Amino acid sequence: MPCAKCGTFYGWSVETDLIDRMRQGMRDRGVAAMVVTPGADLRFLADYDAKALERLTALVIPATGSSVLIAPQLEEGEARESGFGHAGGRVVTWTETEDPFSIVATIVDETGPGALAVDDHMWAQRVLRLREVLPEREQVLAGAIISEVRQRKTSAEVEHLQHAASAIESVHARVPDIIKVGMTEAEAGRLIAEAIIDAGHVSVDFVIVASGPNGANPHHAVSDRVIESGDPIVVDIGGTMPSGYRSDCTRTYVMGEASEDFLQAYAVLQAAQESAVGFVAPGRTCEAIDAHARDLMTTYMFEETPLSEYFIHRIGHGIGLESHEEPYLVAGNTDPVESGMAFSIEPGFYVPGRFGARIEDIVVCTPDGVRNLNLSSHDLVRIPA
Ligand code: ZN
Ligand code: ZN
Ligand code: ZN
Repeated sequence: MPCAKCGTFYGWSVETDLIDRMRQGMRDRGVAAMVVTPGADLRFLADYDAKALERLTALVIPATGSSVLIAPQLEEGEARESGFGHAGGRVVTWTETEDPFSIVATIVDETGPGALAVDDHMWAQRVLRLREVLPEREQVLAGAIISEVRQRKTSAEVEHLQHAASAIESVHARVPDIIKVGMTEAEAGRLIAEAIIDAGHVSVDFVIVASGPNGANPHHAVSDRVIESGDPIVVDIGGTMPSGYRSDCTRTYVMGEASEDFLQAYAVLQAAQESAVGFVAPGRTCEAIDAHARDLMTTYMFEETPLSEYFIHRIGHGIGLESHEEPYLVAGNTDPVESGMAFSIEPGFYVPGRFGARIEDIVVCTPDGVRNLNLSSHDLVRIPA
């Protein structure tokens, strides 16, 4: 589907240099053909947002020759309406009594020798059926091949991520009017979910409203805890836009007045987050960006403990057609970031039994530095209580 906002596809077209770059990756790894079933990879490669149902839909991409989209006969219309179908890509349908896996096998066997790459999220049942119909073919994961291309966003993809970032920020702008003392996290979460849809998303991916001590659990969703005066609240929200691109943004709020120790720790976190964003540039490694924020937080002692010891997760993850995708910015990942990569910068601190805080932006590495897609302030947001 084209983006509702700018009317463009995300730069996808059949047999673009994008697919050629992927084919290079296939040849480098001795892969004869790639089979991609419904999910983010299929959406990326065929602009087809197919439902993952029991009947096989699969895009077969040979290392040489034309790609084929295999679809059940009753979904022929949808397959032909996909970007792949629209651009004249070959669609082959199968009837209720045919075996789609033998159709895949026939196409793959026309490609010559080599391994069969299957998408990382393919159902095990399908992987094993492909093994039955193509017993001579070594199976490998397609994820690394596709990710090499998916990680480096085109300018059209960056614009879709910008639309997503702006949409989720408009939701954060409404949060101070939504959250009230006496409300449960779940009640606040329902209202925020409605606001995510109102802001132009087609679906809500997650809503975290982590108040008071719940803020110490980074992946807390919502609970029946009643929000109290003095609570810091971590609000981390995201959804999917009509283009398929995702939003993900965290801001931290406080009901009324925060304690002095929280305010001091928050100021350190804010400085570390902003410094890490500014540190992003082509060639800096994923782990160096993570360490940059962590080191700044090490110098501040929260009671007897360096604040960095309460920063218990990686600093960020890639984002695109999935909320979490490569690159992962974590200690041990020595890959350099490159121009076009889009990822979160989201340090936090989580003090068990007390509170937590996180600040999250989505940034894009540019040829000469970084572009932050989130423009709103990182200051702690006080909600009158
Ligand atoms: Zn757009
Ligand atoms: Zn998030
Ligand atoms: Zn995130």
